[in-house]
Formats: sequence, C-alpha cells, structure tokens
Amino acid sequence: MDHFLYKTGVLHAEDVPLAEIAAQVGTPFYVYSTATLTRHFRLFQEALAGTNHLVCFAVKALSNVAVLRVLAGLGAGMDVVSGGEYRRARAAGVPGDRIVFSGVGKTRDEMALVLSEGIRQINVESLEELHVLSEVAHGLGATAPIALRVNPDVDAKTHEKIATGRKEDKFGVPIARAREIYAQAAHLPGIRVVGVDVHIGSQLTDLAPFEMAFTKIADLTRELRADGHTITRLDLGGGLGIPYTRSNETPPLPLDYGAMIRRVLGDLDVEIEIEPGRLIAGNAGLLVASVIYTKPGEGRDFLILDAAMNDLIRPAMYGAHHDIVPVLEAQAATEQRPVDIVGPVCESGDTFAKARPMPPLDAGALVAFRSAGAYGAVMSSEYNTRPLIPEVLVDGDQFAVIRARPTFDEILARDTLPTWLAS
Ligand SMILES: *Cc1c(COP(=O)(O)O)cnc(C)c1O
Repeated sequence: MDHFLYKTGVLHAEDVPLAEIAAQVGTPFYVYSTATLTRHFRLFQEALAGTNHLVCFAVKALSNVAVLRVLAGLGAGMDVVSGGEYRRARAAGVPGDRIVFSGVGKTRDEMALVLSEGIRQINVESLEELHVLSEVAHGLGATAPIALRVNPDVDAKTHEKIATGRKEDKFGVPIARAREIYAQAAHLPGIRVVGVDVHIGSQLTDLAPFEMAFTKIADLTRELRADGHTITRLDLGGGLGIPYTRSNETPPLPLDYGAMIRRVLGDLDVEIEIEPGRLIAGNAGLLVASVIYTKPGEGRDFLILDAAMNDLIRPAMYGAHHDIVPVLEAQAATEQRPVDIVGPVCESGDTFAKARPMPPLDAGALVAFRSAGAYGAVMSSEYNTRPLIPEVLVDGDQFAVIRARPTFDEILARDTLPTWLAS
C-alpha cells in the first residue's frame, strides 16, 4: 500500500497534488512519500517485534540524505556498500554503531574511514579482504567487528543481474569454506568475529530460497559455536520483492518473512539484522514526467516523454515493468489504446513500455511511473547531458526539494581544459 492516490481526479502524493509540484519544480522529478516510507519500515519492525533485531535500510536503494534522516528517525540502522554511502548515512545523523558495511570490493581507504569514525560491523566477502582489513585495523590500533558473508549456493530465482547467492556469483565465500576462514579470522590481529552474513539477491517473490539459505546459516552458526567462535548476530541481507504491477503479483509479506525467520532461527539466541532496500523505498517513490510529443507511427503510436533511461534505467537494464499512469485520472469510459512509451535519448533501449494501453494524452500531460523509489534516482546519470532530475520529499501537505536539478553552468563547470588546450 502507498500514499499516492487520486483525489478529485488528480494523483496526489499524500495531500499534495502532483501538478502543484510539477508547476513549481518542473518535470521530470522524483517524489517520495514520508508516510509510505514510514509504513514500510514499520512493517519490518512489526514482523520482528519481540526479537532482538536491527532493521538496516540498504542505502544503495535510495540514498538521499533526507530520506535516510526520515528512516533514522524511526530507528533504522543503515547498510552501506561504499565510503560514499557511509558518509551519507553519517550526514543523515546515523551513528557508526548502527551502520553495517557490505560490499565485495572495499578499499583500504574505505576501511580506514569506517574504522576511524565508527562501524557496527563489516561484512567481509573474501579471505583476501579479511587479511587487508586485519592490516588496516591493526595499523590504526582499531578492532574491526566482522561477519563473513557466506554464499549458501541457493538460487533466488530472480533476475539474472540481481541474483547473488549462487556459487557462480561473485559474492561472499562458499559456505563450505566458511569454518576454515573463521578459524583464520579468530587469530588475526584487529579482527573480532561477531556474526554471519548472507544476502542471496533482490526482488525475491518467494520465501523458499530465503528459508533454504537461512537454514544453512543456522547450521553453520551451530558449527561455528562448536568450533569456539562467539556468534551473536546473523545478518540476513535484504531482497524481499515488491509488486511492480497492481494486478497479478503477490510477493511475500514482511509478516510472513518475519514468522519464517523466527521459525528457522528463533532458537539460536542471536540478534537478527536485516537489510531491506527495495521493499521500504520502491513503492514510496514516483517518477513524474511530461509528454513532449505524441507521435503516430507505422502500426504503433509513441508517447515521447521528457524522462529517459538516464533518469530511470530499470526498464532498459532489467527489462523491468513500471506502471505508468496519467496524473489527471482518465474517465472510466475512456478508451485505452496501446502506445510505446519512450524517452528522448538516442538509443532504442530508451523505451519504458511497449504497446502499453493508455488513455489519450496530449503534449504537456503529466504521467507518473509507480514503484520508482528504489534503484531509480540512485542509478540515474547525465547521459546525453540531461541534468540529474530533482528529488522531492512530501510529508502530509508539505513538500520540499531534497536534491535540486543542477544548472547547465554547474554541469559544464565540472569539465576542465588541460593547460595545453586552454589557450
Ligand atoms: C542490494 C543489497 C541489499 C538490499 O536489497 P533489496 O533487494 O533492495 O532489499 C541488502 N544487502 C546487500 C548486501 C545488498 O547488496
């Protein structure tokens, strides 16, 4: 459920008509709903209520500092995958001891940053990384609390590009090697083992792969404890899918996910960490665009928008579906006709939808892409020198720009001429 509803025929973000934001900010823009972010975060809190747990928002899904501030205010920790994301979480006011550092390619500089400023846990993804981390921590006179990310070799049955838990994926260490690596970790200076970490992929629409992975983690935890390690935390990653269409998808509910976690891990006496990104942010954001042209074609008509693949790359990158709806609600009796909805970028891949039934729309009409809050703005670029689009946060009847559109002067000022070309 989200808080983007039609009221008197106009699509609103909470109590704000989208046309009002468009008039003030210009299109295209992203808009996020505080009430929806809050609701989705609380679903996880409720799902794990009564257990010792921390819900760490996966910052990579939606990293705007204002959004992080909203979630931090509700008690969220953060899962970051770079030094840059760590800085964002800190800028949002999140203390280091509520930040988990994940990622397969952490650099020494990033390790030094988080060890100096404070970190709850570093999820180590290889033996090589473990040794470098030990060196860096030891050199700083610090101790790195670590969990080893194990790869349980389960197929998350999700899109090829976002499956991470099969043995051929680049993530984590094979679960069969985990005990040997923990044995080394126990003797390395600057390293303190605190837990086990797993993340098998994103947009999972079935609990079974999670349950298979968590069962393996439970077994491993018992073995590691028998080996003499102190395992106080299990980080279960993110990955719970969301409905991208209003009709036929029914991904598992956080409540059922929580019940499964209790069932599989409940007797281990551990603190549970989860790292949801998409489920919290995905349906809390829209991309709003304008129709530039309607173009009749051979056998198909086109709706050319002012938003493009550089603003929302999911359709081009994953073949992802986004519901696209008119901001002015179509009359129930209006005939819908199939159109290709495209952006202005010079690539055929800049296509948001093919043969999508839409009501008649004129140039200037506003449309909204649903489910664009996660992996939307964070993946945008300035391809074709199209400025990064603004992000807007709504809370009740108020809204504010939380990232402004850069001017062309700002964009051009980032390019510099080398001395030999300057005169
Ligand atoms: C991407 C990622 C997440 C978040 O995944 P969602 O599908 O957005 O919930 C969590 N943890 C790690 C390590 C990730 O890489």
